[in-house]
Amino acid sequence: MIRYTQYLMPTTKETPSDAEVVSHRLMLRGGFIQKVASGIYTYLPAGLRVLRKVERILREEMDRAGAQEVLMPAVIPSELWKESGRWDAYGKELLRFKDRADREFCLGPTHEEVVTDLVRRLVRSYRQLPLNLYQIQDKFRDEIRPRFGLMRGREFFMKDAYSFDADEEGAKESYRKMYEAYCRIFRRMGLDFRAVEADTGNIGGSSSHEFMVIADSGEDAIVSCASCSYGANVEKAECPVPAEGTVGSRDAGAARKVETPEKRTIEEVSGFLGIAPGALIKTLLFETSVGNVAVLVSGAHEINEIKVKNRLGAEWVRLAEEPTVRAVTGAPSGFAGPVGLAVRTIADHSVRSIASGATGANEKDAHLVDVVPGRDFSPEAYADLRMVREGDPCPRCGAELRVSRGIEVGHVFRLGTKYSEKLHAVCLDADGREQVVAMGCYGIGVGRTAAAAIEQHHDGDGMVWPISIAPFEVTIIPVNVKNADVAAAAETLAAGLDAKGVEVLLDDREERPGIKFKDADLVGIPVRVTLGEKNVAAGFGELRDRRTGETVRVELPKLEEAVLKMVAEKKAECTA
Ligand code: ATP
Ligand code: MG
Repeated sequence: MIRYTQYLMPTTKETPSDAEVVSHRLMLRGGFIQKVASGIYTYLPAGLRVLRKVERILREEMDRAGAQEVLMPAVIPSELWKESGRWDAYGKELLRFKDRADREFCLGPTHEEVVTDLVRRLVRSYRQLPLNLYQIQDKFRDEIRPRFGLMRGREFFMKDAYSFDADEEGAKESYRKMYEAYCRIFRRMGLDFRAVEADTGNIGGSSSHEFMVIADSGEDAIVSCASCSYGANVEKAECPVPAEGTVGSRDAGAARKVETPEKRTIEEVSGFLGIAPGALIKTLLFETSVGNVAVLVSGAHEINEIKVKNRLGAEWVRLAEEPTVRAVTGAPSGFAGPVGLAVRTIADHSVRSIASGATGANEKDAHLVDVVPGRDFSPEAYADLRMVREGDPCPRCGAELRVSRGIEVGHVFRLGTKYSEKLHAVCLDADGREQVVAMGCYGIGVGRTAAAAIEQHHDGDGMVWPISIAPFEVTIIPVNVKNADVAAAAETLAAGLDAKGVEVLLDDREERPGIKFKDADLVGIPVRVTLGEKNVAAGFGELRDRRTGETVRVELPKLEEAVLKMVAEKKAECTA
C-alpha cells in the first residue's frame, strides 16, 4: 500500500505549452515524468511504476517464448560498428564520443553488433542453437525532432531481442515465435493493435512487421484490408498494376508544346490546360547515392521515396534541389518531363494507365500535350513507386483498403546473415561445415508503449489505464481523513486489499474531495473507492469504475470482496 502523503506524484492543473499530444500532457500533469533536456526525462515514481509493469509483461512473455535475458553495455566501442559498416552508414542519430585515450565510442541505439560479437565468441556448434537473447536497456538515439514526451525521446528504454539459428528455416521459426509473443504482450496490455508489413529501413534484412497501436495521434499511417488480414505501413503497402491506356485519348496526334506561364504544380497545370490530374505525367528528379534519377508518376498519385530507394538499391535518395533540376532538365522546377530528358528514368505503374497525357517540356513556362508513353519516351522500368491511397484494392484479396493512424510500439525483423556475415558469426553444422548463422531482431519501446496506451485510453478527465499497466490498481479516497470512522474504514480496506496483493494508493491527503477525485481521474487508476462521511456513518462505501464512471454503493463489510471482483474482471480484459 502506498500513502499519497508520502508519495511523490506532483499532479498539476496546468497544461504544459510544449506538449502537443495527450500522452505527453497527461504524463506531465500526472507527475509521471519530468523533462531534463530535449528528449531526456526523469521518470518519477508513478511513471516508473508503469514502465516496470510494461517491463514485467515483456520479461514474462520473452521468457515464455524461450528467450534469455542478458544486459549489454550502453557504451559501445566504434570497432564493432565499423565491422558492420554502420559506423559510417547510421548518420547523426548515433551519438559518438571519445574516451580519454582518444578511442571512439557510441551510445548504443540498437545492439546487433554487440550481441553478434557475443555469439561469435560463444557459439561453435549448431547444437548450441537456436539462441534468443534479450535485454531491457537504456538506448540513445539523437533524434532530429524528439517530441511527444516518451513517444520519441532521445534516451529511452527498449526491450531488444536477437535470435540466432543454424539456418533460415530455424530463423523463420524464431521469428514466428517472437511474432506470437508480441501479440500476447500487447493483448496483455489491453491495447488495440495491428501487426503490419513494414519496410526494413536502417536495420536491413528480408522481412519485417511493425506492431501498431491504433490511435488518431499516431505518426504512422497504416493500411488495412476491410475483409482479409492484410495490413501494411503505407511506406510499404503494395499498389496494384492498373489497366493500360485507360486515361486520355488513344489516338493522340504528335506531341505538341503549349505555353503554361507560371504553372508548375499538378493543380495549376491541370486547371490551366483542362486536363485531369490522372492524365498528367508528373516528373520528379531525385539525387541519390547511385546518381540522378527522374521518377514518373500519374498526377493523381504521390511518389513513395522509400519504394524509389528500394527499387534503385540506393543508400539514400532525396528530391533534387533547384540547381540540379536546372542542370539536368534545363528548366526551373515545375517544368520537367520525360521527353528527351537525358537522365536515368523510372516510372510508377500508374503511368501505364495513361494513353496520352501532358507533361513538362523541360523549358520554362511550357508543357507538352498529347504525349504517349512508349512512343515519346520509354522509362528504363515500370515499378510500384507510389504511395497507397484509401480505397485502393487490397493486394491479397482485392477488397478496399482503409487508411488509419497508428503508433509503432514494436518491430520484428528477419535479418538473414546481414550482421553475422560481416562479423563472421558462424557455427559448424551436422556435417562439420561452417555455416553463417541466421539472425532476427525484435524491439519494443517501453516508454513509447506506455505513451501509446494513454493515447488509446484516455478521456477528458485524464488517463484510463488498462489495469495490467496502471500505476495502481485501486485508489481509496477517504473524503475527510480527520473523521476517525472514515479514516479507520479506509485503513482497514487498504490493509485488507494489500494483504491480497492488490496495488493500492491510499489518498490520505487533507485535500478537498474535489481535488482528490480530479487527481484520481487524472492518473487513471482503474478502480476507485470513495469513503464519505455520511456513507460510512450509514455503513457504506462507494465503488467507481474509472472507465465507465459507473458507481455502486456497497456495504462496508462487503467492500473488499466487491473491489477484488472488479479488479479480477478488469484483469480478465488484459489476458493473452
Ligand atoms: P521510428 O520509425 O518511430 O523512429 P524505429 O523504426 O527507428 O522507430 P526501431 O529501431 O525498430 O524503431 O526500434 C524498436 C522500438 O523502439 C520501436 O518500435 C519503438 O517502440 C521504440 N523506439 C524507437 N525509437 C524511439 C524513440 N526515439 N523514443 C522512444 N521509443 C523509441
Ligand atoms: Mg527511428
